Amino acid sequence: MLASSIVKTTCPYCGVGCGVDARLGAERLIAVSGDEQHPANFGSLCVKGSALAETMGRTGRLLAPRINNQTVDWPTAIDAVASRLSVIREAYGPNAIAFYLSGQLLTEDYYVANKLAKGFVGTGHVDTNSRLCMSSAVAGYKRAFGSDAVPCSYEDLETCDLLVMTGSNAAWTHPILYRRIEVAKQRNPAMRVVVIDPRKTATCQIADMHLAIKPGADNGLFIGLLAYLVANNRVDEEYVAAHTEGFEAVADHAKVFTIEAVAQQVGLDQASLATFYEWFSNTPKTVTFYSQGINQSATGTDKCNAIINCHLATGRIGLPGAGPFSITGQPNAMGGREVGGLSNVLAAHMDYSNENIQRVGEFWGADNVSRAPGLKAVDLFDAVASGEIKAIWIIGTNPVVSMPNADAVIAALTKCETVIVSDCVAQTDTTRLADILLPACGWGEKSGTVTNSERRISRQRNLLPSQGEAQPDWWILTQVASAMGYGDAFNYVSPRDIFVEHAALSGYENNGQRLFNISALSQLSEREYDQLQPLQWPVTAIAPAGTARLFEDGLFCTTTGRAQFIDTRPVMTLRSLCADYPLALNTGRIRDQWHTMTRTGNTHRLLEHTSQPFVAINPATANDLGMQPGDLARINTAQGSMQAIAMIDVGMQPTDIFVPIHWNDQFASRARVGALVAAITDPVSGQPEFKFTPANLVKIEVQCWAIIASRTRLDCGDFLHWSLVPLNNERGYLYQVALDDAFIWGEFIVNKRLRESGPALACAQYSYAAQQDERIMCHTDQRLELVIFSHQDKSRLPDLAWLQTMFDETVEANYWRLLTARDVLRQAKGRLVCVCLRVGEKQIIDAIDVGADTIDELGERLKCGTNCGSCLPDLSMLLDERRQLRSRRIKTPNVTAV
Ligand code: SF4
Repeated sequence: MLASSIVKTTCPYCGVGCGVDARLGAERLIAVSGDEQHPANFGSLCVKGSALAETMGRTGRLLAPRINNQTVDWPTAIDAVASRLSVIREAYGPNAIAFYLSGQLLTEDYYVANKLAKGFVGTGHVDTNSRLCMSSAVAGYKRAFGSDAVPCSYEDLETCDLLVMTGSNAAWTHPILYRRIEVAKQRNPAMRVVVIDPRKTATCQIADMHLAIKPGADNGLFIGLLAYLVANNRVDEEYVAAHTEGFEAVADHAKVFTIEAVAQQVGLDQASLATFYEWFSNTPKTVTFYSQGINQSATGTDKCNAIINCHLATGRIGLPGAGPFSITGQPNAMGGREVGGLSNVLAAHMDYSNENIQRVGEFWGADNVSRAPGLKAVDLFDAVASGEIKAIWIIGTNPVVSMPNADAVIAALTKCETVIVSDCVAQTDTTRLADILLPACGWGEKSGTVTNSERRISRQRNLLPSQGEAQPDWWILTQVASAMGYGDAFNYVSPRDIFVEHAALSGYENNGQRLFNISALSQLSEREYDQLQPLQWPVTAIAPAGTARLFEDGLFCTTTGRAQFIDTRPVMTLRSLCADYPLALNTGRIRDQWHTMTRTGNTHRLLEHTSQPFVAINPATANDLGMQPGDLARINTAQGSMQAIAMIDVGMQPTDIFVPIHWNDQFASRARVGALVAAITDPVSGQPEFKFTPANLVKIEVQCWAIIASRTRLDCGDFLHWSLVPLNNERGYLYQVALDDAFIWGEFIVNKRLRESGPALACAQYSYAAQQDERIMCHTDQRLELVIFSHQDKSRLPDLAWLQTMFDETVEANYWRLLTARDVLRQAKGRLVCVCLRVGEKQIIDAIDVGADTIDELGERLKCGTNCGSCLPDLSMLLDERRQLRSRRIKTPNVTAV
């Protein structure tokens, strides 16, 4: 038997930054589990992290460089990139070149990209998809503390007595942090959790109070809180006098925000608001936990500062169990911030002052350092569209899906003189617009560091050889730098060489002025770097083991050393609902998918909880629109339209709808929600408003529905709507399809056969025309190649979990089962809620209805929720829903659980 080994690494998905034990054997990743020693997760992984081993491999990978769709070798590709950038810079100047980076990059990749762009090419136009995620949190911290510095540690989430979660559905977006909070609350029943969110999400399952405010109302809520603290003498005057500035003016402006006024503005009843304010004012150990719901707003920076103001006023910062804690979405958004990946920062948390430009130029040995901040993401793509930027190098991200007004991004890239894309995936909505495509290493093939939401730097280690000719991003960038004549400044041999330079720059002429300082790591040997244990910056001679909490001494990074109160105004949203667009479109992430699905979309397990793009609608709104669950809907905004499946959600407000950000042209038809979002940005941070776009919704009439299992990818151009679930290891593809009345299966199958020159297929068919009930199986002697079920009644179709089993069995075993559709409905589990143990919604509801009344009882009967725990909030919601249904049936008063 071959021996296996375990390599410690870090999950590549969200900003929790969980440690992963990767078990290797026979040159493959056998399994992953949580690293019990890692301080972010202590051995747990959520469902996405648990599925990492399934997402490794060659499927869909970009394996070689390409120029204009022709495969080339690396020297040719590197020369092409270097010469195009040089020619454009010569002709139009450095600012005709832009770099668009990603919070998925490792810090070492990020550092080299930033150095090449800002130091040697000389362009300031270096921005990142982190602009879309947390740039308002950065701007808020900088305005208040003089530094982009997250004060807290994850431990504070467990030791606080009051946790205020605003603008976050952590149960789905940061599941391991949510689990830590849940366990802490079980240990300390006195701990309270308040969730502030227009939607009642899975996160509300641990809430003692859910404040369903109007979209965009957070700022008014926190200004009102400050007014309450002042009016009720709950301000820590000693702290305010000793460590802050600007309190009087802010407090004075806040005065008018009485409970009555705020309650009306934010859409809450006065009693709930007063209770929240009282809890906050009476609980010294309070953490405010915030994420994209705060940041992705045209007034996101003000919202962050309104939160921070309340913590400064009460002195609740720099203490165990207290502080304003922004949680990043991406695995290395923080690392990008450290190196200068945002266009308004030069490098290593240094802004664009003359002193810093000289300092960084000296350190890099560069005399061509960009002189001014570059354009932020939305403006950057506008400049590509206008022709001001003539070459863009996009690294590790998919802006055609993720940017607001995403169709305008397609138009901009289509027009752009040179589009270079580095990616590990061959076919994305963005790679198809590239002139030059460069294959990059993916997770498990590259090596470096990432920094999570609590400033903790962890190693991501390579596990397996690269696929094809893929190379690490830092290597690609250094080769281009050398080809442009900058080789001396980029002669790195390994990621360690880059890391120690990055660490040295953080301490260079620092003199205690910049909080981001990891200079104690600047002498690491290759071995020490390889063995680096997770630790939180700053890491200096004074704090060689790192720093758990910032601002414990009440000293801030402003010129006076005092934190700044920032006066903000409670603007709700910049646009209003109207007769044409009466619904507020909110966007966000779902439990089992990550970003644009380039990795999580590769394992069907992660598509079994939610397999299609959906729009969540309040039941009353759906009723008004004549919509039932599962109907096909068109969502329209002033920017564009898309299609999604209607999902009725009692947690939605009647005027709001919610659409996930993940689906794109590779996985569904017309499902990019970015194309619907206006490119309206926060004036300070440049972060776009993703949480509020006026929209309308219409039902699309569908004549017939179908599900298809195919061994090969299908041309879906003839379908009214489609969505795709790829089966692991390219075993096949499952499609869910809506058809109009012109559709004919016979033609579709003939066309498919004509397109493919594979083995001859025999076809068997059952048809009952009155109900458009058709079952078709096409097969060789050996195996099924194509299975189609269609019916006018969607509920008569089998579910995907059943359909995929067809490819596991022989033709003989399936023949009659398929044509008679025997067992189909009886075996349906519904959507999988517990993906790890493969337990479906229908099974869970059945178990609840026959007596399972707690999560533990469900676990005992079905095993659901007993592995990674990601589904526990869903189980809890289902238990609540069935209880409420029962209580309505026996006509007792309805009691809301939170
Ligand atoms: Fe990965 Fe899940 Fe941990 Fe996030 S919470 S880092 S997705 S395992």
